[in-house]
Amino acid sequence: MFKWLLLAGFLGLLFYFWRQKQRIPKNHPEVESLVRCSVCGRHISVHSAMLSAKGHYRCTLHAGDPD
Ligand SMILES: [Zn+2]
Repeated sequence: MFKWLLLAGFLGLLFYFWRQKQRIPKNHPEVESLVRCSVCGRHISVHSAMLSAKGHYRCTLHAGDPD
């Protein structure tokens, strides 16, 4: 019996932390700064952007393009 209570408590904790994780993006909307791909000019978040050898930001489609 106690085992099940422990399990239920553990699952409750997991669910609680999962909910916290889900809420983070809503609490901090658009914290990421946007950069422009130097090839197509698309706006992409700085975290998903690639840096070319010359320091230009690239979207994932143009990450391998030469400067
Ligand atoms: Zn691009």
